[in-house]
Amino acid sequence: MPYCRAITRPGTPSASLTISLPFRVSWSYERNLRTAAAAYRALTFRGGLDVTPEAEEAASAMSLLEERRYRYHRRIERNSNAAQQAKGVHGLRCQACSMNFAERYGHLGAGYIEAHHLRPISSLEEGVPVRYDIKTDFAVLCSNCHRMIHRTENPADLNAFQEIVTASGRQR
Ligand SMILES: [Zn+2]
Ligand SMILES: [Zn+2]
Repeated sequence: MPYCRAITRPGTPSASLTISLPFRVSWSYERNLRTAAAAYRALTFRGGLDVTPEAEEAASAMSLLEERRYRYHRRIERNSNAAQQAKGVHGLRCQACSMNFAERYGHLGAGYIEAHHLRPISSLEEGVPVRYDIKTDFAVLCSNCHRMIHRTENPADLNAFQEIVTASGRQR
């Protein structure tokens, strides 16, 4: 789509990006927090905790530590530099189902795609600047596939998710 190309900013050829995380929390502190949270949760209704709707959706049985890492992962994805560079490198077509927003929604969808961060969430260490290779550390996904990949056991495994999408497409 011609208008699509006009809106997309060209990506840097060998794009990389360093994201520094805003706070440092030691893992032993995390473990204590987790134990405290488990006790707290035994007594209170889950809805009272500060959980974003997408975190709630993605995994209802996450531990607090996992939730923190998940929110952190989402923050990296929403980093506008990362998102913009991911588009530049990977384009605007969903890498799982091939959906393109401009093709489906016309000008409304032009330039839209979501960046998905491929580093395993468990490897994220808060407070430590991380250098990302946009080509290997990010993928672009439509909103549906992005939600669904976060429901898989390992959201960092794009190949496994692509297989799920391809297999379910074949059955139809
Ligand atoms: Zn998709
Ligand atoms: Zn993601």
